[in-house]
Amino acid sequence: MAEKMKFNTALLHGNITQKEGETLTPIYQSSAFEQESAEKLEKVFANTAQGFSYTRINNPTVEAFERRITLLEGGVSTVACASGMAAIFNAMLNILKSGDEILSSASIFGGTIGLFKDLESFGIKTVYVKEATAAAFANKISDQTKIIFAETIGNPKLDVLDIQAVAQLAKDKNILFIVDNTVATAFLVKPIELGAHVVINSASKYINGSGNSISGVLTDSGKFAWSEERFPEMKPYKKMGPYGYTAKLRGNLFRNTGACLAPMNAYLNSLGLETLGIRMERICDNAAKLAKWFETCDQLTGVNYPGLETSPDHEIAKKQFKNGYGGMITIRAGSKEKAFSIINNLKYPLKVANIGDTKTLVIHPSSTIYAHSSDAEKENAGLFDDLIRISVGIEDIEDLIADFNQAIGSI
Ligand SMILES: *Cc1c(COP(=O)(O)O)cnc(C)c1O
Repeated sequence: MAEKMKFNTALLHGNITQKEGETLTPIYQSSAFEQESAEKLEKVFANTAQGFSYTRINNPTVEAFERRITLLEGGVSTVACASGMAAIFNAMLNILKSGDEILSSASIFGGTIGLFKDLESFGIKTVYVKEATAAAFANKISDQTKIIFAETIGNPKLDVLDIQAVAQLAKDKNILFIVDNTVATAFLVKPIELGAHVVINSASKYINGSGNSISGVLTDSGKFAWSEERFPEMKPYKKMGPYGYTAKLRGNLFRNTGACLAPMNAYLNSLGLETLGIRMERICDNAAKLAKWFETCDQLTGVNYPGLETSPDHEIAKKQFKNGYGGMITIRAGSKEKAFSIINNLKYPLKVANIGDTKTLVIHPSSTIYAHSSDAEKENAGLFDDLIRISVGIEDIEDLIADFNQAIGSI
């Protein structure tokens, strides 16, 4: 039944868990779960019986959210984590060990670059490619490369990944391909359908939608062919077939790092998830109109949006994305002072370090979320001192344009 449903119907009716006829799985605000006997609890701990024991390991509200994300992304299983960063950490460290390498796009979220720096202390090195193309990745693969990592739409460079081409390379070289789909969302593209092995979403953004909970999810496609020679640590999990990767994660690193999502946040995410489709439809529509309008502003020295024909990645975006081009736009004001002036004069957009809200959000990335990055890192991430990042919301487009018009008029 699930496979026949279209996007919005699946968000409302797919993979729903019901016990008492509830219309949305309620908040199981309980740290532990009793089983009827010592024998049953023994089985739950040995994973030979279904059931819950302790919320750090799993929880009914969290599981209901995970099931819906699995359906949304078209994978076999999902692990919900306390944040997007926790999801990335767990997805990576589940299989990496000292001496291994990550091969990553350079134009990724600043926090992820920070995490990869932290991993150096544990003997895990990250090699970056400036242009995230299959050819560039192929050039930098070594015997130690275990993971290729990139974002579908780089934040804030807004470069668009050719998922299918990189997936083919990763498959040929037996490298796990992990895609961060936070900025694009499944509304634009489902990376697993194009060959990605594991998909990450910071659910704090578009999935939650209202900016009320930090959380992250990782979804496994179940399709990676683990070679025993390259991934010996996966050998004991071979018998679990497509569930091996998440079985290893749940049984070890995930529960041991305590990266679990709070039931309350899982509930708020499930609630937000129901309107992901209609929010994204409106957001993409607003962003397309706003980006086109920015192109007519003589005061601006640059506009970047994957939906504009002037975007260097417009062709791949057009080929790959189904329903629009996302909600992120960057504009260049000519100088840092002018960028600050625009930001300060805006009435509606909130000045916050977040994206994916119903409200329009703006930030000057260079002085905030990338303040601790080197000049080289900023350049690789497509950052300039006069750049403003805009996460477009669902306001009425006339009001947004009028507001940006008066703010840009201030320069
Ligand atoms: C926000 C974000 C993250 C990190 O997610 P948190 O929920 O803030 O930990 C990772 N990747 C991308 C692309 C993001 O935008």
